[in-house]
Amino acid sequence: MAWDFCTDLEFQKKLDWADAFVREHVEPLDLQYPELHYTPPTAEIRAVVEPLKQAVRDQGLWAAHLGPELGGKGYGQVPLALLNEILGRSEWAPVIFGTQAPDTGNAEILAHYGTDAQKARFLRPLLDGEIFSCYSMTEPQGGSDPGQFRTRAVCDGDEWVINGFKFFSSNATNAAFFVVMVVTDSAVSPQRGMSMFLVPADTPGLRVERPIGLGNEPFGHGLHGLVRYDNVRVPADALLGEEGNGFAVAQTRLGGGRVHHAMRTVGLCNRVFDMLCERAVSRTTKGERLGDKQAVQTFISDSYIHIQQFRLLVLHAAWVIDQQTTAGARKEIAAIKIAAPQVLHDVVMRAIQVHGALGISNELPLWRFLQQVFVVGFSDGPAEVHRTQLARQVLKEYAPAQGIWPSEHIPTRLGLEPADVRAALERHVGVA
Ligand SMILES: Cc1cc2nc3c(=O)[nH]c(=O)nc-3n(C[C@H](O)[C@H](O)[C@H](O)COP(=O)(O)OP(=O)(O)OC[C@H]3O[C@@H](n4cnc5c(N)ncnc54)[C@H](O)[C@@H]3O)c2cc1C
Repeated sequence: MAWDFCTDLEFQKKLDWADAFVREHVEPLDLQYPELHYTPPTAEIRAVVEPLKQAVRDQGLWAAHLGPELGGKGYGQVPLALLNEILGRSEWAPVIFGTQAPDTGNAEILAHYGTDAQKARFLRPLLDGEIFSCYSMTEPQGGSDPGQFRTRAVCDGDEWVINGFKFFSSNATNAAFFVVMVVTDSAVSPQRGMSMFLVPADTPGLRVERPIGLGNEPFGHGLHGLVRYDNVRVPADALLGEEGNGFAVAQTRLGGGRVHHAMRTVGLCNRVFDMLCERAVSRTTKGERLGDKQAVQTFISDSYIHIQQFRLLVLHAAWVIDQQTTAGARKEIAAIKIAAPQVLHDVVMRAIQVHGALGISNELPLWRFLQQVFVVGFSDGPAEVHRTQLARQVLKEYAPAQGIWPSEHIPTRLGLEPADVRAALERHVGVA
């Protein structure tokens, strides 16, 4: 099937607007209010960001990942990929455009599985950017393997009682509500024995034991929570989707999340590539520019190729989702999830190298971007798990060779293998 990445002219105008807007008005927020993009805004920050959000709404670009029924425009995944490339340049941009994780994924599953009452209570304010949410699934003893999750909910009359610990729950200290994945039946597989609950942040028994930060953030500070659920009682209607359907609900949100991360990673790679090239033409040593050295030229050409390859992979995945939904694009989504940390890692490492000491200093953002390699790698499941998934998907499309030799075996294809030798070999190795 042919594919088409042509950009509608009207949408291109919006992209041009977004590009200039992010560079001029949003990137400065990363410097002025670093790390505060997920914190409930102070009056000062609100006064700065609300007009910016309004400008995005006026352009019809607010929450562009959503369909019209939820207040978005339903542009589709390919246009969204082009927009997210622009937003990937800045930490604040997803918040200003209403597309920040984990709220996007949580909004997606609320829209998909939520009752009208759940949507009114949780989804509407989330979409309006009035509150933040938390997705609480990973546990200290196991992230990639849901079979190890221990946080349990048991039915008590018309309530559920949740007990356990969750780890690395982003936004735990700022969220108005938690989407919690919990074992409700340990006798069956995780695919059938887990359920998803909506738990308001002020529910008694829910406590952020401590915030967890990344890298150089001081101990005791950070956006990700070790969350304790101690006899947390919620009513029966706190279930999101059916009892036992938590795994399927999780997959609905994680698929979209992986795609959005990859789209933004293209943008971050482009920003780092710009830094690499600017340095290559600015710095001279031994009478010539760094960009005239063959080693640096290799950095630049390899980075260019890897970013372009990755970008096309992401756009193609977006296009497949537009044609067949997220469920029909499992292979493509796994591929971009695997590729994203690798390409970002390679480009950031090269950019750091050409900047020398300045590259690893706290006067450039490159060291933070290196940390982002692991964030992109671990978020929504590590790349290694996706390698296995991708290989399994690919192998489903293949059948074993007929007989002892591969189907490309030249003597067999030329008819040169005597029938008696073939028969003897096949008898010998037991091939039918
Ligand atoms: C910045 C950030 C934000 C996050 N936000 C959230 C959040 O909001 N909510 C939430 O619930 N979780 C969140 N997480 C957690 C994330 O989902 C987990 O880190 C991820 O699922 C991996 O789990 P783990 O860290 O326990 O690693 P483990 O599962 O212990 O895996 C460690 C390593 O083992 C290897 N490995 C694991 N399984 C396999 C396999 N099957 N085959 C081959 N190798 C394997 C991989 O190399 C992997 O990196 C966040 C993580 C980060 C870094």
